[in-house]
Amino acid sequence: MELRSGIKYLKGVGDKRAAMLAKLGIFTLWDLLTFYPRTYEDWSRITSIKNAPMNENVCIKAIVGMPCKEHRIRKGMTLYKTEVTDGEMLLDITFFNNPYSAKKLEQGKEYLFYGKITGKGYFRSMNSPEFTEAEGSDTIRPIYPQTAGMNSKAIEKLVRTAFQYGEKPQDPIPVEIRNSYCLMELSDALKNIHFPESEDMLSEARRRLIFEELFLLELGLLRMKTKSRQSTALSMEKDYTEEFRSLLPFELTNAQKRAISQAASDMLLGTPMNRLVQGDVGSGKTAVSAALIYNCAKNGYQSALMAPTEVLAMQHYKTLAGFFENTDITIGLLTGSTPAAEKKKIKAALKSGGIDLVIGTHALIQKDVEFSSLALAVTDEQHRFGVNQRNSLHSKGKNPHVLVMSATPIPRTLALIIYGDLDLSILDELPKGRQKTETYLVTPEIRERAYGYVKKHLCQGRQGYIVCPLVEEEGDASEMTAANALFKELSDGFFKGFRLGLLHGKMKSAEKKAVMDAFSSGEIQLLVSTTVIEVGIDVPNAVIMVIENAERFGLSQLHQLRGRIGRGTEKSTCILISEADETERLNVLTSTTDGFKIADEDLKLRGPGDFFGSRQHGLPEMKIADMMTDGEAIREAHSAAENLLKKNPALSGEEYALLRSAVNRLFSGGSMN
Ligand code: ADP
Ligand code: MG
Repeated sequence: MELRSGIKYLKGVGDKRAAMLAKLGIFTLWDLLTFYPRTYEDWSRITSIKNAPMNENVCIKAIVGMPCKEHRIRKGMTLYKTEVTDGEMLLDITFFNNPYSAKKLEQGKEYLFYGKITGKGYFRSMNSPEFTEAEGSDTIRPIYPQTAGMNSKAIEKLVRTAFQYGEKPQDPIPVEIRNSYCLMELSDALKNIHFPESEDMLSEARRRLIFEELFLLELGLLRMKTKSRQSTALSMEKDYTEEFRSLLPFELTNAQKRAISQAASDMLLGTPMNRLVQGDVGSGKTAVSAALIYNCAKNGYQSALMAPTEVLAMQHYKTLAGFFENTDITIGLLTGSTPAAEKKKIKAALKSGGIDLVIGTHALIQKDVEFSSLALAVTDEQHRFGVNQRNSLHSKGKNPHVLVMSATPIPRTLALIIYGDLDLSILDELPKGRQKTETYLVTPEIRERAYGYVKKHLCQGRQGYIVCPLVEEEGDASEMTAANALFKELSDGFFKGFRLGLLHGKMKSAEKKAVMDAFSSGEIQLLVSTTVIEVGIDVPNAVIMVIENAERFGLSQLHQLRGRIGRGTEKSTCILISEADETERLNVLTSTTDGFKIADEDLKLRGPGDFFGSRQHGLPEMKIADMMTDGEAIREAHSAAENLLKKNPALSGEEYALLRSAVNRLFSGGSMN
């Protein structure tokens, strides 16, 4: 069978099981072969009963001393007990309500038992062990992630069948690279990752598969980088940064000046800039991008600024229109809900060169958006976009300069891979006069008191946010219901007489805009909102925020939300309401405002799988490599990729054909083979 064949055609699968496997992301034979075990049971290392550590999974080789005896201890609970020995010590074995297993054990026969031992003194027992006849079965067994209707054993059986009927996978890593890094051949690695011949073989198989994933990733990223480095760009004749600074209502921070000068000097060169500006929430990334946009416009070129949400795009439009108020720079706003006639006008103006800057959402990367001279593509909150989306924006110009901005602090060790194709400017300084936001964690019993505190601030002319809890079932519709309910409860109840506003993702664009405008002008005092305000929103007079059911949010997300306040010179307060006893986790937020520290904690607590699984970085998903713990492998793969591309930048030649297409596939998001 070909490896790309549908899984339902594999012997023992069929339509019903194919549907279950689909839930595990398995659609083809190849998907099954690369569906790696979650862990293993080591049945090859046999321990004596006497020396076995307690409460850990161990494997015992022992002879059954007597047939299983049945003990009915109460209604619905029957125990089956027997005694086994390894010649040195006795071990009691118990099964609960499981006559099927119990009856399989034959007196006088030798078995391997796998499970946890408990006991005191000379008494040892093992409950509900897995077992198999001792003869010929000292192996390391795979344990797979399971799904309803398919347990690990069933999947194991299918994997065996797949090896039996599937064609041999071809190795994308050329033999000379395999040799120089001492890597196993692909099909051996696959066999050993599922059914290891020994612990050594298992670890070699893992090393090989991890190397491959990271190697492909690095090749893809480095290739993007060299591609853009080689091509020419629209270079700026003159640096207008000084002039731009005179337009601002504030003095730039040193960090902002540094980032601007790094980027501006990139743009004076004949090669395209490719730069990430990373700065914690509130560090002033928008002004950095505005400086470069200004430079671009003054040199006679166009720029585009893309944001992940409409609300943020509208806000950027307002901010930049403010900065450029007394200049001749023309700006357009293009989002999914811009009226058709308006859209048409903007698109025509972009094409003819009548607009210097367009600000928008994903709408900017639609096919029919064309520029006359796009020289700078800025992506804000870049982690919200995939690598591909980022690329589609800059493919709108002839190798424009690229600036991406993000507040999501990725641990430094990872910046290399994730931003392997970008240069980095860090805004490590907040504007002058900012005070640290105080954060408190309170239980729902004192919710009223927290609201009372909010009220006090509103009465002093300040503004605030109340963030609705995330709803259990996913989807904008249920978020909307929750937000509506809270809004109603508060406006008719505790905050009666105050000017409240409601903002959620399901609202029409015009409504969103009206609410945001009313909030920034101060007409709305208290904004009840879902996480739509998570990115970018900037209203400095808002100094207080209450987050309901804080335990439902990730730490980094809470940090982003909290970043909506503390944007002026006034002291700000964030109150987290949480009923679950997750005090330890949430206390990370009360004790620090350092986004890097919070991201690190987040990773530790949630595990990298979660952090990296949820499209935090826009990179292809890894099946076996762990970007947190495989640091050594990352460096190895990085240098291997660099060396290869130095020799053969286009990966041309027959022996690289498989490698080339594997890299392309990884970045096109398709499944392999
Ligand atoms: P972020 O980095 O989170 O995108 P913004 O660009 O939205 O931050 O800036 C946050 C706030 O700080 C805005 O109100 C902005 O006008 C203000 N700001 C930016 N730079 C400075 C500065 N150098 N001095 C004072 N305020 C600034
Ligand atoms: Mg921002």
